[in-house]
Amino acid sequence: MDKSQIELLGDNHIATSVKTPMRADAFDRSDDEKIENIQSHFYKIMEELGLDLTDESLSGTPYRFAKMYVKELFYGLNPNNKPKISTFPNTYGYQRMLVEQDITIDSSCEHHFLPIVGKAHVAYIPKDKVVGLSKINRLVDYYSHRPQVQERLCLQILTDLQETLETEDVIVMVHAKHLCVSSRGIKDKESFTTTLEYGGKFKDDKLRQEFYGLLENNFKE
Ligand SMILES: [Zn+2]
Repeated sequence: MDKSQIELLGDNHIATSVKTPMRADAFDRSDDEKIENIQSHFYKIMEELGLDLTDESLSGTPYRFAKMYVKELFYGLNPNNKPKISTFPNTYGYQRMLVEQDITIDSSCEHHFLPIVGKAHVAYIPKDKVVGLSKINRLVDYYSHRPQVQERLCLQILTDLQETLETEDVIVMVHAKHLCVSSRGIKDKESFTTTLEYGGKFKDDKLRQEFYGLLENNFKE
């Protein structure tokens, strides 16, 4: 791919697949080994930019950067870090939608490695299984902490919840600001992006309207 194509793909935020593209040997090395390697690579980047790494304020940056990448921003790449989502039988027989809204999205764009920040709103209609509410937040957090494309993030949350809850009746909406749009390129500070994915009963327009209505009413409070 030539450099203009690389720029174009990034600015259009095109994802190539629903699964996060991973190498087969992604986890052959331990976190500590990764931190050590990334630290030396980032040291070289800083040096290339002309920074004096002997400066007290800068000298620890390569390590801080490497640790932040492996342990914080991209912890969600490693399936071992996936939160345990235990489900419970739907003993109440609750059959209406349950909405979990304003879940924090703290992610990063895979084209520029800059933050994506926003909110996710998730609803599902239980069949035989329900989950603890905070588990939805944890799942959103996990999939957010990868280099992402917003459309894929939305889909990954949806498909995981559909599998976990054993129902197609799930809807996921994500509103987010992309720092690669606000701080570089077009430098638009105000715009944000909305993505929506749903299945099962949420294909019914009336049910989606009910979901939007609930979100709107709750926003006003
Ligand atoms: Zn980007």
